[in-house]
Amino acid sequence: MWALKREIFEVLTSSPASQSEKVEKPVRKKRAPIKERLEKIGLSREWDFVLHLPLRYEDKTQITSIADAQPEQTVLIEGVVTDSHEQVFAKRFEAVVEDETGSIQVKFFKYFPSVKDTFKPGNKILLFGKVKSAWKGDGLEIIHPKSKISRPTRELDKSLTPVYPAGEGITQPWLRKRIQTALLNVDIIDLLNAEELRELNLPPLRKAIESIHYPAPDANLEELQMKTSPGWKRLKFDELLAQQIMLTLSRKRREALKAPEIVPPEDKERSLTGKLYRSLPFKLTKAQVKVWKEIVKSMKGPIPMNRLVQGDVGSGKTIIAAMSAALTIDNGYQAALMAPTEILAEQHFKKILEWLKPFDVKVVWLTGKLKAKEKREALERIASDADIVVGTHALIQDAVQYKNLGLAIVDEQHRFGVEQRLALRALGASGLMPHLLMLSATPIPRTLAMSYLSDIDISVIDELPPGRTPINTKTFKLERKQEIIESVRQELRNGRQAYWVCPLIEESEKLDLTAATISFEELKQSLTEFKVELLHGKMTSEEKNEIMERFKSGKTSLLVSTTVIEVGVDVPNATIMVIEHSERFGLSQLHQLRGRVGRGSKASYCIALFGDKLSQEGKQRLKIFRETTDGFVIAKKDLELRGPGEFLGSRQSGVPLLRFANFDQDSELVDKAKELAIKWISSNDARAETHASRWFESKEKYLEA
Ligand code: ADP
Ligand code: MG
Repeated sequence: MWALKREIFEVLTSSPASQSEKVEKPVRKKRAPIKERLEKIGLSREWDFVLHLPLRYEDKTQITSIADAQPEQTVLIEGVVTDSHEQVFAKRFEAVVEDETGSIQVKFFKYFPSVKDTFKPGNKILLFGKVKSAWKGDGLEIIHPKSKISRPTRELDKSLTPVYPAGEGITQPWLRKRIQTALLNVDIIDLLNAEELRELNLPPLRKAIESIHYPAPDANLEELQMKTSPGWKRLKFDELLAQQIMLTLSRKRREALKAPEIVPPEDKERSLTGKLYRSLPFKLTKAQVKVWKEIVKSMKGPIPMNRLVQGDVGSGKTIIAAMSAALTIDNGYQAALMAPTEILAEQHFKKILEWLKPFDVKVVWLTGKLKAKEKREALERIASDADIVVGTHALIQDAVQYKNLGLAIVDEQHRFGVEQRLALRALGASGLMPHLLMLSATPIPRTLAMSYLSDIDISVIDELPPGRTPINTKTFKLERKQEIIESVRQELRNGRQAYWVCPLIEESEKLDLTAATISFEELKQSLTEFKVELLHGKMTSEEKNEIMERFKSGKTSLLVSTTVIEVGVDVPNATIMVIEHSERFGLSQLHQLRGRVGRGSKASYCIALFGDKLSQEGKQRLKIFRETTDGFVIAKKDLELRGPGEFLGSRQSGVPLLRFANFDQDSELVDKAKELAIKWISSNDARAETHASRWFESKEKYLEA
């Protein structure tokens, strides 16, 4: 079992994920068996249920008077129905409920006929749900509350009701029972001894767990909700401890490996690195220089570098990668550069040729598309005289034998599975582990990065090259689509190109496609004088490539697409990005899409169209999007709005490591956990392994998926 753990370390210590890559959605299938559905949310062993802690609590222990209820608060209200009616055409049921202090509107957009009985005027009822400011007027409303008739014998709940994270088809009552069973089945042995508990000032494990699943009637609700009760502190500590154990072991393992020593060349003038540097048509930004120095320092070895370079779209990561490759070649080793798509890989190949070819560097191109003979030749050269290999996933296929790979570079690293990134590194020269350099345009706030990726060193390019014209972002109601089409026409007439991204539709990819097709037809008919093409996820990669090629070469003026537009694609002549139903996208995803324009010297525009169902959060998202083009600010806001789970939670990169603790707020616990993890590991204490597996074992399969 512990051997398998290796994989988890890698995963846990590898990458952030971008929510924006949620491109391919599976078509809705028949519901999976309960076992699989549970596994999907990381529940398989009894211990997993024990550690499946509530997201929040519902307080049905007391009644809130209507006058005291605040918007956004979830409350239990008791009152009398004074009015109710069904709006048959609008398919809506509305009621008014009053208590001694005021009245509130109740609305149902989906309901069973029985609602009409419950809400008969004169009935005394109990409502539970989130209160909002009314759509019209200045009162309050509550939509789809849980509701029942209030009997004279009614009793309020004695304790808070936990609400658990649940997946599709898993109900709260079922989960509650299942967790109760698990708590009976599991022998909850406290791995911390009495002395450790005393020193840390934490409660015993069983007591802590029970206080969270079954809060006492007199428990402090505020502390529970904020996860600051002693019980929560104990669980957060345990979670952090498990994380620190994983990371400490992972770092130890990496430090035991040897990497090639890549040192700065003695003869700066004649070295490839020096020549490349002097030949650049621009000066590196301060941020680029800083990151370059960090890379040089860690490639000296002998410990393999594990570095992630984060930089907003257009910040100039490619040249940093090329210089790192040059330094590697100066030291007599090979470099490899892997990109997630054919288009991106080719873009890199051309750049590398342009930059390095003048100095007789041997650049080899490798993708799955090569003909058998070309491929054989490429493989031969990789095994003999190639200096740098550029390509797609083909770089990590079994048949590829590198002569002496010293540096593996992975661009847009979050688009690769964990195994793929590691596979490239595993192809090192005999006995040596290549350095690994990962590039990502998805900036994650530093503290978040640290909590998830502690075994990775992070370099940030936090500055754009000078002379970029900022992209002008505007938001409009979807109703104004015709006007927008006219603006696009104007821009196309001036010889520019544009992207038009179609709505993301929750339910299925099929609907996505239908919506895109409708928009495409509409645009094609409006803009008859231009070539308009449609790009979507159902096309073969060959078709996609051809369409992208035509767009890159300027033959196509307007590219309509679902969200599949390749991240990183560089078409400087494209100056308008229209995003339909932008309210359905996450902030980071919007930012990525906007990054497709503003790549040349001409003024660029991003037009975000929104429909009428704009939630408060949606409004806020679009406001932030309009106001800033700084990727880090966006990422930080995105995190605040959505929470880290969603932020990092992509299938490709596994689950977030921390579910309960927060690296910023719990920094004191982090330090203590780190201390204990190091103590346990350095004294070969078997508790380290037991503890880590309690928390993470079931995540293995999930993480590897
Ligand atoms: P990204 O970080 O998004 O991968 P690229 O590496 O593709 O960005 O760089 C975007 C563009 O900026 C490229 O055309 C690149 O040559 C150019 N560039 C990179 N660094 C600088 C710089 N310091 N000054 C001016 N232009 C630069
Ligand atoms: Mg790039």
